[in-house]
Amino acid sequence: MAVLPIRKIGDPVLRSRSKEVENINEQTKELIDNMIDSMEAAEGIGLAAPQIGILQRVIVVKIEDDLKVTINPILIKEKGESMAEEGCLSVPDRRGLVKRPEEIIIEGLNEEGEKVKYELEGLKARAFLHEIDHLNGILFVDKAIEIKDEESE
Ligand code: ZN
Repeated sequence: MAVLPIRKIGDPVLRSRSKEVENINEQTKELIDNMIDSMEAAEGIGLAAPQIGILQRVIVVKIEDDLKVTINPILIKEKGESMAEEGCLSVPDRRGLVKRPEEIIIEGLNEEGEKVKYELEGLKARAFLHEIDHLNGILFVDKAIEIKDEESE
């Protein structure tokens, strides 16, 4: 396990599409451990594998001690609309208002390779969608209607 440096905007890895994980092996488990360590060290609520330089479809989200690891996440349903401010460990010192669905259903695999299905809303839904965007090379600044420096508030 290791805390790895988080890639920052401008790094081409953040603009690349991540590949599906075809089989979950020791390397996948090490990747997940490193992602959790790196997310926690940076005090983030979510992290996607490309943020530590690995182009695989793996995300971790931890909100209020609820840690969810999802491999090959797919958005299968969305409902409603919500506008809220987001930030990103890869885009330091900036925040922006992003419109997202209010409720979603996500399917994927957990770290054991078992199918998981999550019904999420509010901040959890937002965090999952933000991390899935990373797997497609999308950053919140692409979607934000207003971006501001954190210090300016
Ligand atoms: Zn992010």
